[in-house]
Amino acid sequence: MRIHPALRQWHEQMKAWRRDLHTHPELGFEEHRTSQFVASKLESWGLEVERGIAGTGVVGTLRGSDPTRKPIALRADMDALPMREENQFAHASGSPGRMHGCGHDGHTVMLLGAAKYLATVAPPAGSVHFIFQPAEEGLGGAQRMLDDRLFSRFECSSVYGLHNWPGLPLGTVGIRQGPMMASMDRVTIDIVGKGGHGGLPHLTVDPVVVTAHAITALQTLVSRSIDPLQAAALSITCVTAGTSHNVIPESARLTGTIRSLIPEVRDQLEAGIHRIVNGVAQAFGATAKIEYERQLPALSNTPRETQLARRAAANVVGEGNVDEAIDPVLGSEDFACMLQQKPGAYAFLGQADAGHRPMIHSPRYDFNDELLPIGSSYWIAVVEQEMARSD
Ligand SMILES: [Zn+2]
Ligand SMILES: [Zn+2]
Repeated sequence: MRIHPALRQWHEQMKAWRRDLHTHPELGFEEHRTSQFVASKLESWGLEVERGIAGTGVVGTLRGSDPTRKPIALRADMDALPMREENQFAHASGSPGRMHGCGHDGHTVMLLGAAKYLATVAPPAGSVHFIFQPAEEGLGGAQRMLDDRLFSRFECSSVYGLHNWPGLPLGTVGIRQGPMMASMDRVTIDIVGKGGHGGLPHLTVDPVVVTAHAITALQTLVSRSIDPLQAAALSITCVTAGTSHNVIPESARLTGTIRSLIPEVRDQLEAGIHRIVNGVAQAFGATAKIEYERQLPALSNTPRETQLARRAAANVVGEGNVDEAIDPVLGSEDFACMLQQKPGAYAFLGQADAGHRPMIHSPRYDFNDELLPIGSSYWIAVVEQEMARSD
């Protein structure tokens, strides 16, 4: 493991920052305390700081000495989740119903550690933008930053992201070229029938029965319509109908999430949902209204930047501890939006050890503080690799 001595020295301080953020979790677009924390630290190390991008977003810029070099960007997310923390330790959430259950507290501190190192110990030749993004958890913070002209205000040739990953052991890194996380779409389906008496079903068109058939038929999309070698998930996660045991309701509502890695499969799933739901509804004499919303694109790593990130990771954790063909996951990540505009790469940094097994979004999850100097070193290695780039 190649950890810079300064980061070893700062480890206790970084741990204290991380635990402070963990105790004070803030939801998306409400990261006021967190962004103040970030901005004041960046300013104290002499970076140029812009606040208020997408509301609570912050970008710190470290100006390089060589203006001919294209700047690069590194991105961390800052928001917490609306969930109850079950951990009992001293730094557990002090805000009931809010929790840093995805480790964005750790992401924020790892990027701060790298910014401090690059600003005060080993300034790079080119400029680096440190992006602290609000509202990653389903609220579209990345897109809001892009709408605030992120990449025209902070011109860069590439952008990098990372996530701690409890599915990998501490001291390992996983990455892959191409699609690594899924696109995320949401569907809302209203099945409209004809309500009536529960004992006189022949006078009704029962939307509950239509809904049951529709849910079952939708399962065939992934199993029968999509190439079995392609990844896809379609989950109907919410079903609402009826108010009483003896009243057949007029309508029923379904909502669900759709994930895939490539655009062709995404198109097939969207079209298939319309075909199946409309067909089933029509077969039973009901009607269907379908709202299909594309929320996030798939996250896809570009070839050169993936190789660069792989080398950076290998420099820190050792060649044998980098899996460069990790399986993609069908979770989603809004860093995907930034990768639609700039080349870049996103990596999973292993965080599992005996005390850190729970998956992200578990009420017993906690970011592993041992990852802090590793993550900062990875960021520094990415900058070093970028600065050594000759193309
Ligand atoms: Zn999350
Ligand atoms: Zn996350």
